[in-house]
Amino acid sequence: MAKVSVDASTCVGCGLCEQSCPEVFEVQGDGVAHVKSQVCSSCNLQEVADACPTNAIKVA
Ligand code: SF4
Repeated sequence: MAKVSVDASTCVGCGLCEQSCPEVFEVQGDGVAHVKSQVCSSCNLQEVADACPTNAIKVA
């Protein structure tokens, strides 16, 4: 299973990942995206990672 992580030092909190997949990503009060769940039934997490403007999302 994919292991999803967000590099908090690179994330700029744009919210794109949360818009794409709110099941997995949430931009919290600290202004960076957090991973709430490792799985999503309806999105391709690699595509969400590729769309991140700062490449902060890693799917291993
Ligand atoms: S898309 Fe990238 S930069 Fe934007 S909130 Fe998500 S992890 Fe952060």
